[in-house]
Amino acid sequence: MSIGGRLTLVKSVLNSLPMYFFSLFRVPPCVIKKLESVRCFFCGGGTGNDSKISWVKWEEVLLPYGEGVLNLGSLKSKNLALLGKWWWRFLTEPTTLWVKVISSIYGPSGGFDLDRNHKLITCNSTWANIIKAGDHIDSIGVAFKDSFKKSIGDGSSTRFWSDCWVGSSTLKSRFGRLFRLDRDSNALVKDRIIKDGCSLWNWIRLPGGRTLDQLQQLTELIANSRLAVKPDTWKRLPSLVELDKRGIDLHTVRCPLCDDDVESVDHAILFCKHAYDVWAKVFDWWGLSVTSSLSINEMFSNPPSIIVSDMGFMIWQAMIWTSGYLIWWNRNHKVFNNKCWTSPVALCEVQVKSFEWISKRCKSKKDRVA
Ligand SMILES: [Zn+2]
Repeated sequence: MSIGGRLTLVKSVLNSLPMYFFSLFRVPPCVIKKLESVRCFFCGGGTGNDSKISWVKWEEVLLPYGEGVLNLGSLKSKNLALLGKWWWRFLTEPTTLWVKVISSIYGPSGGFDLDRNHKLITCNSTWANIIKAGDHIDSIGVAFKDSFKKSIGDGSSTRFWSDCWVGSSTLKSRFGRLFRLDRDSNALVKDRIIKDGCSLWNWIRLPGGRTLDQLQQLTELIANSRLAVKPDTWKRLPSLVELDKRGIDLHTVRCPLCDDDVESVDHAILFCKHAYDVWAKVFDWWGLSVTSSLSINEMFSNPPSIIVSDMGFMIWQAMIWTSGYLIWWNRNHKVFNNKCWTSPVALCEVQVKSFEWISKRCKSKKDRVA
């Protein structure tokens, strides 16, 4: 079999077979090692008991295309990424049954903020392993835990000290001495910040010396924080404006694709000329005309009147997700691969990805035929 054929089979079969288990369970290193050796053996052209010489280190074969190799991806990374996804799902799906069950066992925070010495860290349950996967991702140099940020609304569901909502880390880790002086370690943002950004403290004893310096720094840090009427939400896309708000030092916050405006989430996904062009093509495909007041939420929950069936609604939603995903992917391709020019997302890419998304979510053959 040719190298191309072997590569296709590795990607479509050997990579996919363990995905169900990878998505929930922490895979032991010996199993990862065995699976990698099977992929390496097959990819290298080995048959039966005859293996062939590998001329390139397997770790290098796994690297992305841009680095000159085969983009197979490491199974260990896939496992960690899939486990990390549960962190995001836990935070963003608070009303689902599974989150309620986990919260009743491990507490409202799901155990994510427990100290490493806590007994949970030494146990080997499925959820404990998901929590430990976050530590593992952090330990290999990816700022995983710090990537979960709250966007403050009314401050009623964000913990002032323990959640990350201002700057690039929690206030507890930056102002440890002050944190220990607070009477309520679980105080919410709304308990500590009142209208017009004024602070409302409740100390065990008044700060003095070093803690007074910390209090001054903290007051400056939260001086511009304002409560609003809307509820707190988790921040999603790390657009340049969002990264800037988190205090990350950036060269510029202007859109890396068009340079016409600052890169907010709405600009990146909807109003950048590169993004708007994609929406225009997609709307045209549906026989609709794109409006200048685009909104992802509105498009998602209010389908156009031409859609009458549940299946049509699902296809419409798939198309919106796919378009948004491809626009953001295209933007990242330009930013992280430092390309001077990126081809716009083509309509056929949206069509193919939407089809894949829908066909994988249709449970029965009957649904797929429909
Ligand atoms: Zn732009």
